[in-house]
Amino acid sequence: MNALLDAALGYAARGIPVYPVHWPRRSWGGASLACSCRRGAACDRPAKHPLLRHGIHDATTDSAQLERWWRHWPQANLGLATGIIFDALDIDGAVGLAALRQLAPAADPWLPGPVVRTGGGGWHYWFAPTGLGNRPPRGVSHVDWRGIGGCVLAPPSRHVSGGTYRWLRDLDWASLPVVPAALRGLLDPDPPTTTRPTDPGRPAASGHPYGRRVLADELAVLGRATPGHRNRTLNQTAFKVYRYVASGLLDDQEITLAFTTTALAIGLDPAEVGRTLASARTAGLANPRTVPATPGRTTKEDG
Ligand SMILES: [Zn+2]
Repeated sequence: MNALLDAALGYAARGIPVYPVHWPRRSWGGASLACSCRRGAACDRPAKHPLLRHGIHDATTDSAQLERWWRHWPQANLGLATGIIFDALDIDGAVGLAALRQLAPAADPWLPGPVVRTGGGGWHYWFAPTGLGNRPPRGVSHVDWRGIGGCVLAPPSRHVSGGTYRWLRDLDWASLPVVPAALRGLLDPDPPTTTRPTDPGRPAASGHPYGRRVLADELAVLGRATPGHRNRTLNQTAFKVYRYVASGLLDDQEITLAFTTTALAIGLDPAEVGRTLASARTAGLANPRTVPATPGRTTKEDG
């Protein structure tokens, strides 16, 4: 049996998309480990970069595909897509831990959730998905957040230093906790008043009633989508709603979470959901749409 493949299938069974990553292998001299890629000892991200061209976009929960990959590369490290089933706080060794504690003592990451000791001497704390993308917590160095569009290596991957990624608390031991408020405060984008100028005549809150009505309508449409139309419906409905995010009427993270939850509930593949939402979000944010001029009455724009 192959422990790496077993682990890959286990993650996939939880809905976490997996993809193969280069691994550490003995260099020709045999003295040290180097990346399995062609660059070998000259690789700048040894045993951390994807084997496949599309990297994280190739991640899948399809067990047959995972079996094919690990039959072909039995030693490949395990890359997991974050932002769908879980997010991860990536702490780069003791320096990162100290930085996080200094800035936010209340955000002490010693929480009862799953945690990985990385092969390189750091930690990955797993949390319920936030809808946030990759970003460092504000003002903290050597610490990163892996969310939508992100990835982490997972046990039992091997580090080029010779260390192995291992669980300190695994997924059976602990459920995924919600990010503590103090930490969340460091991750959230700056308040709307500084990043998102809004019309003072309208509520600045993310949950404008008109936006919320559009959201409810579109989620209902998605909820009714039948197999064969689900992914396209996700793209169309999410695009419409992200346009209101662009104009400040709805909250970005809240919308991403709402669509992710509904899309998974109707049976879409997690990796597909991540890809489709990312694309709908990009398109929607580039095409802001706001409340019709006379809310409550039918206008041409509203039709
Ligand atoms: Zn390499």
